Amino acid sequence: MRVSKRVMGLGTESAFEVLARVGQLEKQGRNIINLSIGQPDFKTSENIVEAAVKALRDGMHGYTPAPGIKALREAVSEKYLLEHQISVDPNNVLITPGGKPVIFFVVLMFGDDDSEILYPDPGFPIYESVINCSGARAISYPLSEREGFSITADEILDRITSKTKLLILNSPHNPTGAVSSKKEIKKLIAGLINYPNIGILSDEIYSKIYFDNLTHASLIQFPEIRERTIILDGWSKSYAMTGWRLGYSIWPKTLIENATRFAINTHSCVNGFVQMAGLEALNGSQDYLKNMIVTFRKRRDVIVNGLNSIRNISCVNPKGAFYVFPNIRKTCKNSLALQDDLLNQEGIALLAGSSFGSKGEGYLRLSYANSMENIEIALERMKSYFDNLSK
Ligand code: PLP
Repeated sequence: MRVSKRVMGLGTESAFEVLARVGQLEKQGRNIINLSIGQPDFKTSENIVEAAVKALRDGMHGYTPAPGIKALREAVSEKYLLEHQISVDPNNVLITPGGKPVIFFVVLMFGDDDSEILYPDPGFPIYESVINCSGARAISYPLSEREGFSITADEILDRITSKTKLLILNSPHNPTGAVSSKKEIKKLIAGLINYPNIGILSDEIYSKIYFDNLTHASLIQFPEIRERTIILDGWSKSYAMTGWRLGYSIWPKTLIENATRFAINTHSCVNGFVQMAGLEALNGSQDYLKNMIVTFRKRRDVIVNGLNSIRNISCVNPKGAFYVFPNIRKTCKNSLALQDDLLNQEGIALLAGSSFGSKGEGYLRLSYANSMENIEIALERMKSYFDNLSK
């Protein structure tokens, strides 16, 4: 049997493959420090768990409305009013099982065979994968270390052609932790005014995870592009709820009906009790989240300093998410070889930069969603590995 061209276009997310390999090694009795997967190592806060349990006990076992339960869509809308002073119509909010389906919906909505879609390199590998599946041409724009991996407006605008249908942006950014510079965002938006038919997918899944007193500047706040911007966000990273599969998106009024059809045709609706947990996450105390971010910030400082003290490695200081993206060019080894060596020889699972696009070669991605103790051990092991490598 032969699968369709579209399915042949699908790529993968190597984090899940490395995770499987870690599982195999652990079964063999190896002690692996896992810095590969992008999920908070915190448990979901107790009040959120309780809200789900209560909903189950109360009999919330059936289908729910396809776009999401009204109370949760309203809570998302209120959050935007409170945090960004932006009025969002709850009818334009779509609740999904995680943020990922939104990428699929948006890319399929804009990606015809003769169209082009712009996405970041390095970037979340699912963008390129889904664009290839849609039949559209995947056109990457580079993010450079020199700019702290922030977007550069000209690099994006220069790649726009008459075929460009969609631009994907992501800040805070996976895999670098970069936060897009406000100056470049403004410049980009000013440039995009000349291309009113290009849709924008703003992936803001790390919107709560910022350091150094920075706060999130959602693209929803720019009226110039509001009517063609889709916001992707959710609970996975911000509320340590990766396994619950709960995300949301905000759509222009003109597209929400199409988006809802995607929901009806794929997952139908999201589990009611999970949505009740999401409601509690938004409405309940935010202290747990604040503590999580303080912990991430401390770890970021340790891991960035530690990496910069290793021979032939340098690492920029990211302002968000929970990733670092150190430069390994001076080691003269490619990133995949280092991923394998560090896993097999040193028991450290991390990801080759090349799994995030060709511009990711020369880098590694480490997720510091692991304990300080493990991070310190990993840094020691890496130090001795790279010391030996340069002997
Ligand atoms: N977007 C980015 C940039 C991500 O890193 C991830 C998850 O790693 C997602 C979207 C998907 O999030 P979710 O787990 O909610 O589907």
